[in-house]
Amino acid sequence: MPAELIDGIAVAKLVRADVARDTEALVRRGVTPGLTVVLVGEDPASAVYVRAKEKACIEAGMKGTTIRLAAETPQAELLALIDRLNADATVHGILVQMPVPKHIDPQAVILRISAAKDVDGFHPVNVGRVWIGEKTGFAPCTPAGVMVMLERAGVEVSGKNVVMLGRSNIVGKPMVSLLVAASATVTVCHSKTRDLPSVVRGADILIAAIGKPEFVTADMVRPGAVVIDVGINRVDDATLAKGYRLCGDVHFASVSEVASKITPVPGGVGPMTIAMLLKNTVRAATQGLPQGPGQGPA
Ligand code: NDP
Repeated sequence: MPAELIDGIAVAKLVRADVARDTEALVRRGVTPGLTVVLVGEDPASAVYVRAKEKACIEAGMKGTTIRLAAETPQAELLALIDRLNADATVHGILVQMPVPKHIDPQAVILRISAAKDVDGFHPVNVGRVWIGEKTGFAPCTPAGVMVMLERAGVEVSGKNVVMLGRSNIVGKPMVSLLVAASATVTVCHSKTRDLPSVVRGADILIAAIGKPEFVTADMVRPGAVVIDVGINRVDDATLAKGYRLCGDVHFASVSEVASKITPVPGGVGPMTIAMLLKNTVRAATQGLPQGPGQGPA
């Protein structure tokens, strides 16, 4: 029987509705949550993401600002801009769109953003807070979005064998910390994993984030497993006018025949990332306020 689809567009819509409600409550208290995105250079894919983030902020009633800098902007100038944004009380979240041009050290950029405004959740302080379960930490948006999707799809994580395919700092590793906090038994696979198919077959829940088109095939998936596909890959397709199609790291057609639930690409994890970015920004705005009973968003 084909797997049930976990619809990321629908779940993201629910999260964004929550965000809009929380934003309204903050605006009533005189605070408009503000996200500033900094884009260095003209990478076309980054420009698309940045526009989508600004639009989503505005739709939720927040302030979305994009600062565009020339590709040759010196690192010192970018860091000075971050210092100004850190000091600006109307800016609650700061995001520098990655990748940055080669002459800029991405880690220096991440370290410069105040942890309290690091709504991407990449600053080591937030990485540490999330690991130790400190509630003020910001979890990176994509893994946080996966957790919300699992919850909304009624998938129990506690006690399950979860295989995390990929160990990047933006997806795999933070995903592991959230899964461990949710009491899953987690196995992490990467390019050095031996006999990867048999490890992956042990998963009750499989999360794929390796950037390899349709890598996970049906024979690697235990019947009835839940499959979350984080991958977004472009593959050539001469039958389409645009010349390419998007696909995930999972071979959807075959795996959806054995899995119990599965996320599609596009329309799966992707829409959750921006929704969680908005959620983190509202939290950042809330955490900056004096707290009292019934004052902050739930
Ligand atoms: P990275 O390239 O940073 O990391 C890839 C990981 O996959 C690495 O840990 C690597 O192992 C592992 N890997 C690569 N090839 C293999 C293989 N053949 N077998 C086993 N492991 C392998 O990728 P990201 O985490 O940044 O992104 C992964 C995918 O998720 C991409 O398609 C990306 O576009 C997508 N993505 C989607 C987002 C969304 O919003 N839905 C957000 C972010 C990413 P090793 O560490 O050993 O090199």
